[in-house]
Amino acid sequence: MKIGLIDVDGHNFPNLPLMKLSAYHKQKGDSVEWVIPIENSHYDIVYMSKVFSFTPDFQHFVNADEIIKGGSGYCIDVVDGKEVYNAARDLNLPPDAEHAYPDYGLYPELTKDTAYGFLTRGCPRGCGFCHVAAKEGRRSYKVANLSEFWNGQKYIKLLDPNLLACDEHIELLYQLIDSRAYVDFTQGLDIRLIGKREKELLKQIKVKILHFAWDNPADDLKGKFADFKKATQYSSRKLSVYVLTNYDSTHEQDLYRVYTLRDLGYDPYVMIYDKENAPRITRLLQRWVNNKRVFKTVLRFEDFDPKMA
Ligand code: SF4
Repeated sequence: MKIGLIDVDGHNFPNLPLMKLSAYHKQKGDSVEWVIPIENSHYDIVYMSKVFSFTPDFQHFVNADEIIKGGSGYCIDVVDGKEVYNAARDLNLPPDAEHAYPDYGLYPELTKDTAYGFLTRGCPRGCGFCHVAAKEGRRSYKVANLSEFWNGQKYIKLLDPNLLACDEHIELLYQLIDSRAYVDFTQGLDIRLIGKREKELLKQIKVKILHFAWDNPADDLKGKFADFKKATQYSSRKLSVYVLTNYDSTHEQDLYRVYTLRDLGYDPYVMIYDKENAPRITRLLQRWVNNKRVFKTVLRFEDFDPKMA
């Protein structure tokens, strides 16, 4: 069979489902290639994968017997401010594809010495602005061992939504330690789930930067962040924390999280929910905090002049 692939909105990040589908079809002896619109070649199957809901769909005619679409860009709707998963519009990979070693050759530049994958899926939290619980379940569960998508690469980019919430996270952390690769927990670590054991194991994993999130101002996480800082003594450059704004928080609560994190030795990074409709003060806060040169020199938000950034 002749298989075509379309990464509808991919730019700087390789599309994992397409890499798995490519490997799966190549194992079956099929030919696999990127669809080039101007060539108008005919395919038996074309897979289209889209990550973001807000990006436009593929605009060109696709000459194929079957077109299969999947990804969050096709199956997530926002209803009353909540992300809702529509399973009918998603593609579940067949098990042999889901567990295939990704065809990193599809993205030679982006995957140079870097492995990508999920060890776990799902998350028990169910935050309203996030589709993970609806799409993958309100429980974190193991889906793979590291060897399923890593084969000695120097860097590992994990896409797990909440690895520490999985019952088998200790075993998985040991796999990451044993790899001796640099690990990037791209979706962040849940500071609420870091106890003594997790701290010890995380310290043994090679990391360039650790990402956390403090999304909900009602969560009192100051003590947790202080404990982790004390245990690791990592510099603020290595400790990044996403601070969600414009979603059930006041400006004062946003400022409190930013100041608290900075004073504890973390590097806050402001994210804005529904940025188009966010108040000006929230957009200014983001400009101040995320411009690190300015944030380091202007210590209080009241002293920030938008002309600086
Ligand atoms: S903790 Fe993270 S992954 Fe889990 S529901 Fe909230 S935002 Fe999503």
